[in-house]
Amino acid sequence: MRLPILPRWRAHAGRAVAWFALAMLHAVPALAQPQRQPEPLAEGVWLLPGSFDRGRQPDGNSLLLQGRDGLVIVDSGRHADHAAALIAWAVERGQPLRAVINTHWHLDHLGGNIELRRFAPGLRAYGSIALREAVERRMPDSETELRSMLADPATDEQTRRMVEIDLALYAGRANFLPDEHVDGPAHAVDIGGRRLRVGVERGVSGGDVWVLDQASGVLAVGDFVTLPVPFFDTACPAQWQASMRRLEAIPFERVLPGHGPIMSRDEFKRYLGALDRLLSCAASDRTVAECSTGWIADLGPLLPAASQRSIAPMLGHYFEQRLRAPATPQNRDCTP
Ligand SMILES: [Zn+2]
Repeated sequence: MRLPILPRWRAHAGRAVAWFALAMLHAVPALAQPQRQPEPLAEGVWLLPGSFDRGRQPDGNSLLLQGRDGLVIVDSGRHADHAAALIAWAVERGQPLRAVINTHWHLDHLGGNIELRRFAPGLRAYGSIALREAVERRMPDSETELRSMLADPATDEQTRRMVEIDLALYAGRANFLPDEHVDGPAHAVDIGGRRLRVGVERGVSGGDVWVLDQASGVLAVGDFVTLPVPFFDTACPAQWQASMRRLEAIPFERVLPGHGPIMSRDEFKRYLGALDRLLSCAASDRTVAECSTGWIADLGPLLPAASQRSIAPMLGHYFEQRLRAPATPQNRDCTP
């Protein structure tokens, strides 16, 4: 599958900017999406599902937590409608929004921080040191690249709209800097009377924070788990696999992926097995089509039927750009 955008996109993705090729490759028909609403998961716990609409960059899932005397949001999405839904939820709860915890630095988990800080100026943001480094070092380079895309007359209208959204977020990137670093061994934190356990792993973005809500047993893992495929844009696959095994050892009941529906422990294990086999397949001489068929079979009911035809183009992109590309600093994020 060749799309006119790809050569430009390849140049971009090769610089590890985490700008997702998937928005272009996504094969699910474009639908008018209703305003997404938070869905209750447990007492004091909601999920605001992310989006993955054709012609738009994604929003990650957000986990919404209500404590005795305050609210906590895990991941803030990218787009204005996602942030608006988060703020509407906070207003409805009638308690102060105490904190946002960002699992990692990709804009689909972070962009909403700008609006959240405007809404709640006393808000504390939690994130990894890698998030700070990305804001300070990666984002300026990425901004330059996006500006050059805008300056290029060959850039189509749809791409321009996506670029402009991300440039507006970069302009406010001071809001992305964490006030509190999540670092060192996993530890308990109490925010607004909600008891959480937080830790940091590596593999997706260089520093990926997980959050366990102690009362409900819901574990938010950011982009360690994503559907319809793993997003390898800034990944170190070997670290990813090792981190998944440590995540499996956490006493959780359900896992909230970065993208896709909430999973049971058995479903998480199924995903982990599928990831292992996908990476083995990528390291073999089997074709993208064979590996895609294996991924679809391994995930079984976890994969929405509508996503199946998008698997091979997405994996083809990642095989070429990351998993089967010659190892260079630009396409491997495996620094220890
Ligand atoms: Zn994401």
